[in-house]
Amino acid sequence: MTFVVRGLAVTQGVAIGRAVVVASSRVDVAHYFIESAQVNDEIRRVKLARDAVTQELQRLQQGLNQPSKKETHGELHAMLDVHLMLLQDEALIEGVKHWIRDRLYNADWALTTQLEIVVRQFDEMDDEYLRERKADLEQVVEKILRVMQGHTPVVIHGSDSKRGSNDAPLVLVAHDLSPADMLQFRHGVFRGFVTDVGGKTSHTAIVARSMGIPAVVGARSASHLIRQDDWVIIDGDAGVVIASPSPIILEEYGYKQRQGQLERSRLSRLRYTPSVTLDGQRVTLMANIEQPEDAGLALESGAVGIGLFRSEFLFMGRQAKGLSPLPSEEEQFVAYRQAVEGLNGLPLTIRTVDIGADKPLERQSKEEQHLNPALGLRAIRWSLSEPAMFLTQLRAILRAAALGKVRLLIPMLSSAFEITQTLALVKKAQKQLDALGAVYGPVEMGAMIEVPAAALSLPLFLKYFDFLSIGTNDLIQYTLAIDRADETVAEFYDPLHPAVLQLIRATILAGQAVGKEVSVCGEMAGDATMTRLLLGMGLRSFSMHPAQLLAVKQEVIRSDTSLLDPWANEVLASDYPAKLL
Ligand code: PEP
Ligand code: MG
Repeated sequence: MTFVVRGLAVTQGVAIGRAVVVASSRVDVAHYFIESAQVNDEIRRVKLARDAVTQELQRLQQGLNQPSKKETHGELHAMLDVHLMLLQDEALIEGVKHWIRDRLYNADWALTTQLEIVVRQFDEMDDEYLRERKADLEQVVEKILRVMQGHTPVVIHGSDSKRGSNDAPLVLVAHDLSPADMLQFRHGVFRGFVTDVGGKTSHTAIVARSMGIPAVVGARSASHLIRQDDWVIIDGDAGVVIASPSPIILEEYGYKQRQGQLERSRLSRLRYTPSVTLDGQRVTLMANIEQPEDAGLALESGAVGIGLFRSEFLFMGRQAKGLSPLPSEEEQFVAYRQAVEGLNGLPLTIRTVDIGADKPLERQSKEEQHLNPALGLRAIRWSLSEPAMFLTQLRAILRAAALGKVRLLIPMLSSAFEITQTLALVKKAQKQLDALGAVYGPVEMGAMIEVPAAALSLPLFLKYFDFLSIGTNDLIQYTLAIDRADETVAEFYDPLHPAVLQLIRATILAGQAVGKEVSVCGEMAGDATMTRLLLGMGLRSFSMHPAQLLAVKQEVIRSDTSLLDPWANEVLASDYPAKLL
């Protein structure tokens, strides 16, 4: 039966494919495709774990069989009986074998997938006693998983385009995906993504957008409602997911998909068109990247440099990949050099590590998560609390600056104290390199304006920095007190709120007054429906995901800022959120 799940639109376009549902389990589960040669080993892994759990339960049962304990532990005894019976159920293992053998899922993923299917069958049973055995089954599977994986963290890979059911395109449906997980899919098999949680500017959504793949986040219960292998349409424009669509709906969306492809190829003609408004204003369009290898690709989209390299992606999820917890100076230098070299002399803006909030270093359990991570030890606060780590990064960036035009951007500054401490550490890193006789280059220094305190202290920031970059994703979050990653308050996350626009406008004007560049690198910069308003507010430098650049350029070349300025002034004077042209 066809049904629709509504969420938040993340990227433009339509994806159609069969659902790969990543079940949420109380145990963190690794999800990846195995090689055919590993099938038997993976099946053996499940069987060995099952046998180990069986033995453990039998031992426990024998203990209870002692005459003194037999009467007092009647209930526990019955529960162990049920668990042992479920463990011997061949249907469970047969199902697991199917996912491993036919789909090449790793054992943990196969087990949770099969669990989900059996649990649904239990849910549909009339017999209350049998229905209640669901919890027992979940406990048994959890025990097997724990034996199988110890503390294996969640890692989701998808790199082989040949995997999938009968080569049908696949879309991923998950409760949640970390930004690092999402990045793993970059060159992978999935044509689209749906997650139950997350806001439009959560980092998971940002990474999906950077991949230019249709995605919907905040779809609440999608991962419960959609079943493995269901055909699914993801409408990334409307934020809608349609499961088990009828042939007519499929045809309609197939048409929409083709229209989108046509529109993209039409836009690609603008790649070499200068980004100049009708009244001759030059507008700088740069790209945001998460990986060094994307710098060169960004140029292909017509970017004239990188306005934001989110360097934290070099730091995230390393232990899950068996790497050291933090990247070394050399490792970072190689990454920054790769980005510099990909840019053929165009500027590279490297933002120092912005770890924290929805970008933890490693996947955290609920207990490890802080109460208010967005207000906690993140971005520059974390860097200043880890000076050795920060100096390592600064040295790597300074060394890369000897090879091309590199700009250093500091995230989430809010006070003079943080500014002076940061600048002192940059000096210290230079001294350390001097002492080593290492070659390094000059860097322009920039500050992100993403906390209202910064937008209200602009003279201070302009005194110390060469350029400013407005991080609207966080500026909106902190101005409106709306968690950008929380889908339950997503409707209040309003980029057009007058308070947000006033702070953006004040920053642009303050920069203009002293002849220093101000750009926007938050998601607003890549939203073509906002381009005219930002131009009208005086913005002349934008940084966004490469996939969005040509749509924004189209707006730029159709705009006349002399007409937009008065309109933007009216919008700014309004008490209510702006209405876009
Ligand atoms: C922002 O906050 O707007 C920004 C660009 O930084 P990030 O999205 O990485 O927090
Ligand atoms: Mg930010």
